[in-house]
Amino acid sequence: MHIQVLGAHNLESQDFRYVSLLIDDVLAIDASALTSSLSFPAQQKLKAILLTHQHYDHVRDVPAIGMNFLLHENTIEIYSIRPVYEALANHLLNDELYPNFMARPPEKPAIRFRVVEPNRTETIGGYSVLAIPVKHSVPTVGYQVTSADGKSVFYTSDTGPGLADCWQQVSPQLLIIEATVPNRYEEFAHNSGHLTTGLLRQELDCFRELKGYLPPVVLVHMNPLEEKTIEAEIAAVARSLNTEIQLGYEGMQINL
Ligand SMILES: [Zn+2]
Ligand SMILES: [Zn+2]
Repeated sequence: MHIQVLGAHNLESQDFRYVSLLIDDVLAIDASALTSSLSFPAQQKLKAILLTHQHYDHVRDVPAIGMNFLLHENTIEIYSIRPVYEALANHLLNDELYPNFMARPPEKPAIRFRVVEPNRTETIGGYSVLAIPVKHSVPTVGYQVTSADGKSVFYTSDTGPGLADCWQQVSPQLLIIEATVPNRYEEFAHNSGHLTTGLLRQELDCFRELKGYLPPVVLVHMNPLEEKTIEAEIAAVARSLNTEIQLGYEGMQINL
């Protein structure tokens, strides 16, 4: 399994992109760095996009992807939970802000939206995909994606603390998890459903206790303005846990 981190941050500039992942060039998770990172041919190779939640920094490219697929006379499958469908249909693809590509063209819509049920494994594009609820400010699922040859990654998406139930259901060889802010923003993290480096440490402790191991960890969704502090704090966490934790970055390539 080849994983590309197309975007790894919670702010966007010419140097930083919102979080989006690409697995084996065909399966994308979250969609706010897809059109800006991928050529038209690379976009047309996509078999499916998994969306974790409705926040703008995770769904921003859906209208652009819809237009690109429409004009390529192609269809992209987008999977997520029902609240994300409702948000897209009511606010982004509502025929006011932009056309509803889920119904256009009528004979072969450019976007085919599939509602996923949390906690149920589905086969998507040849992968086993398990959507698992996490602890964010709006309904959000993380995705465990397992390839036919048994490689497995779990991406939590945006989440606050309290992932014990989630950990019970996954057994990834790589964990991609958020660390949005450094420790001095703990109150913000609790209020908004995010993790500081210290809260992340507690979740990793919990994972190891429940599962008996800790996979390599890649962090995403960092605030670029605080990244130096996050990096220093996370180095201490990695040392104390005696485990590998890397900060994700735009263009990062991971082979599992
Ligand atoms: Zn969010
Ligand atoms: Zn976010």
